[in-house]
Amino acid sequence: MTCGTCQLEIGGNEIMKQFTVRTNARAEMIDITDRIRILLKESRIRSGICHVFVPHTTAAVTINENADPDVPQDILMELGEIVPYNNHYRHAEGNSAAHIKASILGASETVFIENGDLVLGTWQSIFFCEFDGPRTRRVIVRLAALDSLK
Ligand code: ZN
Repeated sequence: MTCGTCQLEIGGNEIMKQFTVRTNARAEMIDITDRIRILLKESRIRSGICHVFVPHTTAAVTINENADPDVPQDILMELGEIVPYNNHYRHAEGNSAAHIKASILGASETVFIENGDLVLGTWQSIFFCEFDGPRTRRVIVRLAALDSLK
């Protein structure tokens, strides 16, 4: 396995790639579906499984609606209500709320691949979720082919 700036090669029928996301706010949801679709197209995988992983403790990945941009805004608003930024937390770094939100949404998602495309519902998008920005973040995508890579 070699680790480059944007591609981590894995043998057999799997490819691992990563890309960066520049966030612009303390809390933000960024649609990364198209960026993952580009990696999938480059891989030429027709059928398989796509794992999306965020190697951070104050960011997350989730699948939800982006047809109406009010949906991610409502998710961020409500997470802010449930987990306020200040609540007498012990963690001295001062970003416990971001850690908690990251754990609520989780660090990974799995999406099936069929006919060379992600199997997503009509209204579903894959979001990178920032809770302690702005920062430059990493997203790791591992594509496992069920058919052989050509
Ligand atoms: Zn911290």
